[in-house]
Amino acid sequence: FEPPYPVNEPVREYRPGSNEKEALLEAIQAMKAKDWDHPMIIDGKEVFTDTKMKMSPPHELDHALGVYNKGDESHVEQAIEAALKAKADWAATPWQERAAVFLKAAEIITGPKRDIMNASTMLGQSKTVYQSEIDAVCELADFLRFNVYYMTQIYQDQPNSDPGIWNQLDYRPLEGFVFAITPFNFTAIAGNLPSAPALMGNTVVWKPAESQIFAAHFVMEAFREAGLPDGVINLIYTDGPQTGDKVFSHPEFAGLHFTGSTQVFKSLWHIINENLDVYRNYPRIVGETGGKDFVVAHGSSVPIQVATALTRGAFEFQGQKCSAASRAYIAKSIWDEVKEHFLRQIQTIKQGSVEDFTNFMTAVIDERAFDKIAKYIDYAQSSDEAEIIAGGGYSKTDGYFIEPTVILTDDPNFKTMEEEIFGPVLTVYVYADDEFDEVLDLVDGTSPYGLTGAIFARDRAIVNQAKDRLKYAAGNFYINDKPTGAVVGQQPFGGARASGTNDKAGSILNLYRWISPRIIKENF
Ligand code: GLU
Repeated sequence: FEPPYPVNEPVREYRPGSNEKEALLEAIQAMKAKDWDHPMIIDGKEVFTDTKMKMSPPHELDHALGVYNKGDESHVEQAIEAALKAKADWAATPWQERAAVFLKAAEIITGPKRDIMNASTMLGQSKTVYQSEIDAVCELADFLRFNVYYMTQIYQDQPNSDPGIWNQLDYRPLEGFVFAITPFNFTAIAGNLPSAPALMGNTVVWKPAESQIFAAHFVMEAFREAGLPDGVINLIYTDGPQTGDKVFSHPEFAGLHFTGSTQVFKSLWHIINENLDVYRNYPRIVGETGGKDFVVAHGSSVPIQVATALTRGAFEFQGQKCSAASRAYIAKSIWDEVKEHFLRQIQTIKQGSVEDFTNFMTAVIDERAFDKIAKYIDYAQSSDEAEIIAGGGYSKTDGYFIEPTVILTDDPNFKTMEEEIFGPVLTVYVYADDEFDEVLDLVDGTSPYGLTGAIFARDRAIVNQAKDRLKYAAGNFYINDKPTGAVVGQQPFGGARASGTNDKAGSILNLYRWISPRIIKENF
């Protein structure tokens, strides 16, 4: 059988004066007017606690969105118990019924809940309407629909059988429960990390980043409205170390689905390693972590194309993407022209509240991120090896605003060329045109990461040379395009080295990690 191949959800435009724009603005106002009290969801029940944590939009700190209910170790235990209790029924549910839940969730997210998904992501994570529509609606729905398609591909793959016998592959889910940890920067990832294992018959404990809780609540609501049975996904708002203690010391811990920092991922891997004798199974560890993503522009490239890729690659989403362009290597012969276009484009960038749909950028996620990014800017400002040629300003008076910032350095190993900043800061190194080979070595060796990267060149031999030399420097490699904006079903996302286990979110490879196949041979 061949199920219909899904199409990517079309990105809706919210044009001035359109009904879509008016309706979304109304939804934002309605959401702002409410005093939210987000419960955890354990075993299908709303759990409120006495520990109420305040939430505010990162771009409008004096506005209160309400609170979420913080849990403790007992809630982690309850979530694990609920997942284990729900497991047998969910695993025995026909895959068509599991699929239907998530296909229905995609319909809800792209239909009646579209404005709510956008409003909550715009307010909770400070995304512009364009950033949010791509993330919280289109990419999330794409993950859900494409994963169903990939699941059907996996299940129809069956072995040969000699005459008189029958070999069957029984695609069991993992034994135990899966733990999903999701990052602040994508609502789509928040939805994908718990739902992909669940689709394959697993039950899940899901802990979103604190700064994602406002929108994560509505993702869970969509899953429940779509008919997700109690206990299949349990959403908890608990401290990291506390949660880790309970989850990673449990014999039924079966897998980790993680997106976040390299440092946290490594520390979790260590903890899992220490507990290895406790587990019934070797846990599956799937993680997408950091990046120090590059753009290399050869002398044969088109300057305006390079400039546009830098503007969009580095500053869209406030640079808070694992894939964001954060180091650029530009050939000297084209640099003046690239710079002229680039600085002109940056001057047109509008930054501010998410309610003004003409803004291209908003605020970064929280004070910790703000301080970290500002420190890198200060470092460059005070260094003799670097010069700030655009932006450099920042303020946290009304919200966590950081200007799109470009650092120019003549040291290819300058701190901001090497370290992940996770904000709207790009560092540029201009190289002599005849040193292209050496530059590829630098790109490959300067950072420990291997997530995304781009080569700009019109010369085909140069493109091929870069593609070969940078084989492991990026898991998503772009030719004459910015290194961001991977589309589910088109460019499966993920990288190796310090960037993760490269199990490619939104692909068949990822789903294979959530099953433990059994082969059954029957003699007739
Ligand atoms: N998939 C996104 C992109 O290609 C990035 C996801 C992330 O930041 O983790 O731009």
